[in-house]
Amino acid sequence: MSNGLPPLREVISSHGLSARKSLGQNFLLDLNLTRKIARSAGSLEDHDVLEIGPGPGGLTRALLMEGARRVIAVEKDQRCVAALEDIARAYPGRLTILQGDAKDLDVSPHLDGPTRIVANLPYNIATELLIRWLQPNMWPPFWSSMTLMFQREVAERIVATPAQKSYGRLSVAANWRCDTRIALQLPPGAFTPPPKVSSSVVHFQRLQDARFPADPNRLERIVALAFNQRRKMLRSSLKGLGPDIADKLEGLGVDPTRRAETLSLEEFCKISVLA
Ligand code: SAM
Repeated sequence: MSNGLPPLREVISSHGLSARKSLGQNFLLDLNLTRKIARSAGSLEDHDVLEIGPGPGGLTRALLMEGARRVIAVEKDQRCVAALEDIARAYPGRLTILQGDAKDLDVSPHLDGPTRIVANLPYNIATELLIRWLQPNMWPPFWSSMTLMFQREVAERIVATPAQKSYGRLSVAANWRCDTRIALQLPPGAFTPPPKVSSSVVHFQRLQDARFPADPNRLERIVALAFNQRRKMLRSSLKGLGPDIADKLEGLGVDPTRRAETLSLEEFCKISVLA
């Protein structure tokens, strides 16, 4: 029991919340674990928390128990709303439930002051939402940190550094304007029902300014071109940018025979002027 609320298994059976694969429903029912995730987000007392996909509310409860000023929770599955309303009653004035699709809903009118995003995301929309949060029109964005669950393979791509097998577009997009680290590793058995793959919680701490100067659109373009043919030399993968691309790369101090996977963030930012 927590704050008079029944155990999550009971909530799932009394509200008929059988997990739906189409909604990426793999629930966390162990409150010790969800509290650990909530704590890995950093101090919550002075923050609003945006949670995507609260489901039956295991992480939502943990965020409130760990002192979140307010939680704004966006859930697509109408069946979960009644269970979430029980939590809202146990924590008066601290939980706002928004029923809808996180890809379409504008949450900005509901957020007030420093905001952390904390979520056990549905895997089918996790990367799309992440890219949106990492590449807003204006920097700094509305959030100060994000603590998000991904499939382990995606988490490894996010935190990868040059020359590592997983280094790619996602690593550059994430680490250009954030510090990233894996906060927790979870086996499939931590979830109900267990997914096929292991998972990791990644913590993103927003930097006030980008690590190295670059135009975001140009950087995105050059990184996409370079990694689309990651095994090729830059003079070949970037040849669409002009016949003299090798000379231009050399002019910027980057050897055109190198491959995308060897370039540091700073080097990508430097050559982004060519895109
Ligand atoms: N937070 C809960 C937990 O940890 O037990 C549930 C996590 S489950 C992996 C993902 C949740 O996201 C589900 O509750 C699902 O209904 C919800 N969801 C799926 N697609 C969504 C969408 N487009 N917008 C908002 N929520 C969505």
